[in-house]
Amino acid sequence: MSDESSVHVVMFPSAGMGHLTPFLRLASLLLNNHCKLTLITPLPTVSHAESQLLSHFHSSFPQLNLLPFHLPPPPSPPPISVDPFFHRVLTLRNSIHLIPPLISSLSPPISIFISDIFLVTPLLSITQKLSLPNYTLFTSSAAMLCFYSHFPAIAHSKPDDDDDAPEISFPVPGLPFSPLPYSYIPPIIFQPNTIFRNQIIEDSPNLSKLHGVFLNTFESLESHSLKALNDGQVIENKPPVYAVGPFLPFEFEKKNTSTQLSRWLDDQPIGSVVYVCFGSRTSLKREQMREIGNGLMRSGYKFVWVVKDKIVDKEEQVGLGEVLGVELVEGMKEKGLVVKEWVDQTEILSHKSVGGFVSHCGWNSIMEASLNGVPILAWPQHGDQKINAELVEISEWGIWNKSWGWGGELVVKGDEIGDAIKEIMENELLKDKAMKVKEGAMKAMSIGGDCEVTIQKLIQKWKNNV
Ligand code: UDP
Ligand code: UDP
Ligand code: UDP
Repeated sequence: MSDESSVHVVMFPSAGMGHLTPFLRLASLLLNNHCKLTLITPLPTVSHAESQLLSHFHSSFPQLNLLPFHLPPPPSPPPISVDPFFHRVLTLRNSIHLIPPLISSLSPPISIFISDIFLVTPLLSITQKLSLPNYTLFTSSAAMLCFYSHFPAIAHSKPDDDDDAPEISFPVPGLPFSPLPYSYIPPIIFQPNTIFRNQIIEDSPNLSKLHGVFLNTFESLESHSLKALNDGQVIENKPPVYAVGPFLPFEFEKKNTSTQLSRWLDDQPIGSVVYVCFGSRTSLKREQMREIGNGLMRSGYKFVWVVKDKIVDKEEQVGLGEVLGVELVEGMKEKGLVVKEWVDQTEILSHKSVGGFVSHCGWNSIMEASLNGVPILAWPQHGDQKINAELVEISEWGIWNKSWGWGGELVVKGDEIGDAIKEIMENELLKDKAMKVKEGAMKAMSIGGDCEVTIQKLIQKWKNNV
């Protein structure tokens, strides 16, 4: 047995593929470095995608201790208007008292805890009692962490009149494009007493009580924010911030049912296909999806488009014809592949025929694009996505049309979408910059790169109990 086996890491992700995927990628890094790993697994999962991924992960790492956390049924069904993933976060926060008995008999003794950013405050009360070092994995950009840390200071600065809003912006320490326009901030967090607003206001000041924050990002992309975070310019009594990304996809994520898609991609010329996907939990209005279909046709490029009609995959029931209209579906057959199922995104982004990515700018998607040097048409929908989109744009490996607003605010017309797709597929500057971003990404993840050095140093520290 290797020397490092005495390090026992307990990880606790929250809900959704956007959180589970980076957790499991970090878990793989730790397992490959001979840590003992316990994964607290809230059950039932919200989506099929999460349960599939967990089972593939467990098969790949049978040494993993998968600790089921059976959640009590909610006292009443969530209101229809509440995002089921976010409702799950709330249930987790309210069920944290069940964690101490669950972990009390774990052996060998726990060395450290790595929990989800959405669980910071409730978990701290437990790890502090048990004197356990508590780290968090922040599942977005370093830029977003700067905003998250600073939000309580501006939480009461919502303009009284929405007409004033376009004029307003906030200086945010560490943000590479400060001042931050009001319009980049998700409107939900300025609404009084919403769950997410209350949660940031409660959790953000507690970041300073953590032993460290892991980020799925890398130095050459986010040096400004990382430096500010680690110099203490952003969070008072800063916890160390560790950039250990961009996380590589692992074998357990491979979907072996996508051969038709792979074969189709193999037949296309290099860099000729645009890939369109809005992540694991964003469904667009049907009217907007039809405009995307029109836009793809107008662009003249071949495409792979992942259509999502429902937030949670378990609820996807109707076929493409009903969502997009039979005529459009038929019309698109010659031009590309439209799928309404889970695809292996990292396989698609790494395929040589893919030359552009229309993305909602979920942070995992952005990191996956960075590893493959794919130019981005940013189309942020909610949450952290405008901040991530701006980061992509100022790094010049993508474009973002700010007049497209937040998801659902307006319907963007097909001709505008088509023109923007042409731009990312044809602009040589974007391609050059995307390749530069890729170089930085690969360097960070190479043998002897930032990720490996940081993880190994930390494991040594945990072994020595410091
Ligand atoms: N993803 C995928 N196939 C799909 C949809 C999404 O593999 O059909 C993956 C994608 O590669 C990424 C994650 O799901 O790893 C989505 O995370 P992201 O942060 O981009 O967005 P979110 O889903 O949290 O909005
Ligand atoms: N799914 C996933 N990862 C995979 C394959 C599937 O997350 O590698 C999810 C996907 O979101 C889908 C559900 O699991 O809604 C069922 O997938 P599928 O219809 O492909 O079923 P399978 O043939 O894999 O049993
Ligand atoms: N959220 C919400 N309504 C919104 C935007 C976000 O309830 O309009 C919640 C969302 O469910 C998520 C959290 O706020 O859990 C943070 O948003 P983000 O998109 O950054 O979440 P993530 O993709 O990391 O889950």
